[in-house]
Amino acid sequence: MSASPERPEIVVVSPLKEWTCSACGDTDAGWLTMDDGGPLCLSCADLAHLTFLGAGDAALTRRARKYSRLSAVVVRFSRGRKRYERQGVLVEEPALEQAEAECLADEDARLRRRQRERERRAVEDADFERELANEIGRLFPGCPPDCAREIASHTSRRGSGRVGRTASARALDPTAITLAVAAAARHRESEYDDLLMAGVDRSQARERVRATVGSVLEAWRTPQG
Ligand SMILES: [Zn+2]
Repeated sequence: MSASPERPEIVVVSPLKEWTCSACGDTDAGWLTMDDGGPLCLSCADLAHLTFLGAGDAALTRRARKYSRLSAVVVRFSRGRKRYERQGVLVEEPALEQAEAECLADEDARLRRRQRERERRAVEDADFERELANEIGRLFPGCPPDCAREIASHTSRRGSGRVGRTASARALDPTAITLAVAAAARHRESEYDDLLMAGVDRSQARERVRATVGSVLEAWRTPQG
């Protein structure tokens, strides 16, 4: 099941029933991961920036996981077979892109990639994404533009399948933006993902990178000269 059994595997569950996130209280939060304190939505578990790659292409999956610093396995319980079945993996977008690039020699992979891009475009809301990126730039003028775009893109992709306008308004709130930018700073500018991947407890990992993330946010609040 796993390429490297000595590495602890983060498991994400595609739930059969409604559930409530033990951290944010969201009752319609999609996939979950089990934490000591109960189930967590992917945002609260700091996994929401990852991209889903469905099972079915073993070579692509293996490569994407290899290049992804942080990855998780997605499972769903089958009532018929009475066991959890693997749905795919969550990996970092650049890792998936690199893996796809290597698999592109294979014509089938090229077709699947086109299909995934079509699906991705279908759920993207370009206007909202631009607005959100602008708002991030206004609050965090020192945040690298590609980082702001990435945050906006993840947020719009995550919100679009669900509630459109309500989610959009919520995402444009300065508090929500600050949380999203802090999450990005943790993933990009600190060793947080490595700590999580090494099996370090989430709250402990957050504590260890708190100072780093704090000074990154402080720097991003001022325009870079
Ligand atoms: Zn949550």
